[in-house]
Amino acid sequence: MEKISIIVPCYNEEEALPFFYKEICAVAESFREKAVEMEFIFVDDGSKDNTLDVIKEYATSDERVHYISFSRNFGKEAAIYAGLKTCVGEYAVLMDADLQDPPSLLMEMYTAVKEEGYDSVATRRVTRKGEPVIRSLFARMFYRIMNKMSDVDLVDGARDYRLMKRVMVDAILSMPEYNRFTKGIFGWIGFKTKWLEYQNTERVAGETKWSFWKLFKYSLEGITGFSTMPLMVASWLGVLMCVISVIAIIFVIVRQLAFGGSAFGWPSLVCIIVLLGGIQLLCIGILGQYLAKTYLESKNRPIYIAKEQK
Ligand code: UDP
Ligand code: MG
Repeated sequence: MEKISIIVPCYNEEEALPFFYKEICAVAESFREKAVEMEFIFVDDGSKDNTLDVIKEYATSDERVHYISFSRNFGKEAAIYAGLKTCVGEYAVLMDADLQDPPSLLMEMYTAVKEEGYDSVATRRVTRKGEPVIRSLFARMFYRIMNKMSDVDLVDGARDYRLMKRVMVDAILSMPEYNRFTKGIFGWIGFKTKWLEYQNTERVAGETKWSFWKLFKYSLEGITGFSTMPLMVASWLGVLMCVISVIAIIFVIVRQLAFGGSAFGWPSLVCIIVLLGGIQLLCIGILGQYLAKTYLESKNRPIYIAKEQK
């Protein structure tokens, strides 16, 4: 019998989990008719509510349910990694616990991989209904910038919801980096991917864990993780400033020789100093971002720490 591993990162999802479990069990039934079994891997990402108790309850009554519980909140990326590492199925599916990733698509995804020769089937939302306008605006901007800056392909509106073959799971696991940006990793490893589109649905219960600030930091993670373009920009800014300064020096010398009296120009001097100071700080900051990433990677810390596991 073939097996599909459903990996569900959960952070404070006690309200949403019962809905999710009910739906996924129904879908698992329809897969059983096709002689495909499922295993569910719930990754409790250091939840502060009773998520773990809810999961444990399922685990005692249902042998398809497995779980990993983190010692603290390590983030969704770490949860995904942990899930992929423990799953044993020929196929793995990443799925949110809030039913924003409709389980009803699973059958279509499975058929595409099984019969149409794809390595993975991914999903993207075509609408951002129910999302703050500013947030969608920034999200769009991020995808545009990111696609220009790096050589990985990022699809606007792409969800983490996807089904993939074992080869792809192994490829992802072979990237043990600490700073994980899964959307970028999917693009980077390649493979033949089919995209399914669907309308955005709002979460069934509970709240989104992503504040605007968290998303902003996540996007910086993506940029520094998959592009060194900012470093390039910093270098080119330096070159540009050198060229401008040479022109300015020539200008000043010529003016002094021709007209004399170079004592004026204090305000412009201040402007130039401030501008250059600003650019220098910016470039050092960019450099610092990459250095910080290198620093964290070089420590070789584990991506997550599991407290309990079944
Ligand atoms: N999640 C997680 N760790 C976190 C934040 C989120 O495991 O630190 C999980 C969360 O429980 C959910 C999924 O990631 O299953 C997506 O989170 P959410 O629905 O809040 O994000 P959104 O759908 O709003 O982008
Ligand atoms: Mg959600």
